[in-house]
Amino acid sequence: MGFILKQQGGLLCFSLSDFGEGGPRALFTTRLGGVSRGCYSSLNLGYHTGDQPDAVTANRRIVASALNIEQGRLFTVKQVHGDQVLAIRSEADIISKKGGMADAVITHLQNVALTILCADCQAVYLYDPRRRLIGVAHCGWRGAVARVAARCLQEMYLLYGSKPHDCLAALSPAAGPCCYEVGEDVFMAVKEAFPSCRQGLLTEKKDNGRWNFDITQANFTVLQDAGVRKENIFISKLCTICRQDLFFSHRGSKGATGRMAAVLIQ
Ligand SMILES: [Zn+2]
Repeated sequence: MGFILKQQGGLLCFSLSDFGEGGPRALFTTRLGGVSRGCYSSLNLGYHTGDQPDAVTANRRIVASALNIEQGRLFTVKQVHGDQVLAIRSEADIISKKGGMADAVITHLQNVALTILCADCQAVYLYDPRRRLIGVAHCGWRGAVARVAARCLQEMYLLYGSKPHDCLAALSPAAGPCCYEVGEDVFMAVKEAFPSCRQGLLTEKKDNGRWNFDITQANFTVLQDAGVRKENIFISKLCTICRQDLFFSHRGSKGATGRMAAVLIQ
């Protein structure tokens, strides 16, 4: 079924039902329903964007309230387009590790909203129903090339014995292959990281010699290569650049914009 736009605790956001009855809630917020103004209008959840901090705090409160959790349990990290995975293994970790440098977070704990902020980048959601373990990863082109989703699965295995073939995964809305134009640097990195399937990921543009990149297909490949079964991977086909009525788009707005949140909570 993938992500469906619906009301969640009074907030309109994308929600995934494929993790099953009793599984974690997987949400992807839109730009709608917040208090920020101008290019951050209106549900901007990123403090680092240049928006008024008070507005971001108010917006995060709206999301926490929609999830029916305290705002302190909205767990965010400092995302740096790297491949570090942070494990939240105790209640104390929620306080001590918040804001740590990482691009993926995993936990077995209940009632902790693992949150990745995006505006065109893709979020990868992971859930092991056998071990009741969840993870979410920030996977733009750098994250895809660095196989961050696979790093996350590896950490789930090392710390909890989680096996990729037991896991369910979902790929959030992101910049689509219709709009995501890249140059030589990304072309070379993708070619090197995915030598056998490069052609499915990059389409040469006739007019300017650049390429269109399919980030969803790249992350899908990363997950499959790591052992996740393809029937267990749920995909949103929505493009954040095409749908700026619903989403913040870093590329679509030339950088001055807000951030959506990919949230996973059990
Ligand atoms: Zn598009």
